[in-house]
Amino acid sequence: MKAGRKTKRELLEEIVELRRRIAEMEEPAKNKAGGSQGKVSAEACIDTLTGLPDRSAFHNYVKHAVAQAARRRQILSVLFFNLDRFKLINDSLGEMVGNLLLKEVAERLKYCMRKSDILARPGWDEFMILLPEIARVEDATVVVERIFDALQSPFQLNGQEFFINASIGISLYPHDGSDPASLINNAYTAMKRAKEEGKNNFRFYSPNINSRAIKSLLMENNLRMAFKREEIDLHYQPQIDIASGRIIGQEALLRWTHPEMGPVPPEEFIPLMEDIGLTSSLSEWVVQNACDHNMECQKNGIRPMRVAVNLSSRQLHQKDLVATISRVLKETGLDPELLELEITESDIVRNIESTSKTLNLLNKMGVQIAIDDFGKGYSSLSYLRYFPLNKLKIDKLFVDAITTDHNNAAISTAIVTLAHSLKLGVIAEGVEQVEQLEFLRGLQCDAVQGFLFSRPVPADQSLQLLTDKKHFDLDRSAEGYGCADFDRFWLNRRELATGIFP
Ligand code: C2E
Ligand code: CA
Ligand code: CA
Repeated sequence: MKAGRKTKRELLEEIVELRRRIAEMEEPAKNKAGGSQGKVSAEACIDTLTGLPDRSAFHNYVKHAVAQAARRRQILSVLFFNLDRFKLINDSLGEMVGNLLLKEVAERLKYCMRKSDILARPGWDEFMILLPEIARVEDATVVVERIFDALQSPFQLNGQEFFINASIGISLYPHDGSDPASLINNAYTAMKRAKEEGKNNFRFYSPNINSRAIKSLLMENNLRMAFKREEIDLHYQPQIDIASGRIIGQEALLRWTHPEMGPVPPEEFIPLMEDIGLTSSLSEWVVQNACDHNMECQKNGIRPMRVAVNLSSRQLHQKDLVATISRVLKETGLDPELLELEITESDIVRNIESTSKTLNLLNKMGVQIAIDDFGKGYSSLSYLRYFPLNKLKIDKLFVDAITTDHNNAAISTAIVTLAHSLKLGVIAEGVEQVEQLEFLRGLQCDAVQGFLFSRPVPADQSLQLLTDKKHFDLDRSAEGYGCADFDRFWLNRRELATGIFP
């Protein structure tokens, strides 16, 4: 018989489905009251710990969603989520703490999903997610990334902090099955594979979709070697005081140039570095190099100026961040006031309690804090009053069309006014055109940064730039904007249009 060849999980699925059918037959009235087809009776199918739908309810939701997707010719996705090392926590700290963790995980997962998505808990340390309305395969990975992001900050259990990882498997309708059992099973198989490949990972069930994931795995191996091979580097972009034209600081920006692949954008390799557990080493390396470079400039007679270092969300929430920064400052001898940390708005509001603690400690040391990409984050502005901040950075997005788009001009104007009324500095980034500079000057923005003055350049060129050019003549004259060597650092329009690497 065919059943003889079924896996244990398939048999379990069948039993669950049979149970559900029996329950439906026994309680027809209740099910009808549930509303539209495929909806499940609330009391019977809920996981008592989290209040989420259980396996049988989830099964029904998938069935309903598949029917709808088939009618609308859409794709949908099922995610199978499993906590890594849950057993260890449960065994060592007891079931009560284990249960607390599961509840907290359920809460965080809820925030990663849209209203139409379904989160369920089939049992133990597993969760299942139905994404009934995805436009592209990549949309499933967006949710997965959001989940990994949500798990980044530590869990407070029994007065202690725990970092939790998870493995996720993804199946897709119609690629990987057209009934709930196949979609759930295939997502489960993919989750198992993700676990085998090193936990805190995700896999698609379809091998062809995985080839993209494999590409990123290959990149991961390259990345592990990159530090050793000295392929990773910091470039520096000057920041200019808009009133005097003086260079008042530099932003340090990471670069990775792979011998075959060439330059890899920081937005691609930094998250990957963090995924493979290099967050702490990365922070230390960047802060160390930026401070070293700053001291080197001072030793070469350059007047002390600030160096800005970017911090990602994971870096900001890394446990030893303050200790690392403090140690590097002591070792290099850099005045803490000359170190500025750039943090994005969304990262700052993600975990207010721990962010506030970190920022206050850094502030006590004298380290400066700037909010990067300000205005892009749609968050409440009330946090501005609670954190020890020094500067807002107007994002390139607003600067781009500042002279042509009324909304962008209004937002930039509001940011400058807001910054000044809160006694914060304000700098605009991504300034490429003279017209943008003029507009920002009219707003009394304090400083500017962008390709108009210089692209980010390697450390030696940055020292050269600071030696040759302490000051940009920003006054419009008959010759245009200033002295001859200023023009050397101007880029022609063609270069501006061709990417960001020098
Ligand atoms: P960001 O902090 O917003 O950095 C500004 C980006 O805009 C940089 O891209 C810079 O090269 C680019 N840029 C500056 N002026 C102009 C301009 O006039 N025109 C144009 N088109 N672009 C301009 P980059 O270096 O590729 O960095 C991208 C992002 O990567 C950064 O955005 C930052 O979020 C992240 N990043 C870079 N270095 C680090 C780092 O050391 N640590 C962390 N955590 N993130 C970093
Ligand atoms: Ca930045
Ligand atoms: Ca930015």
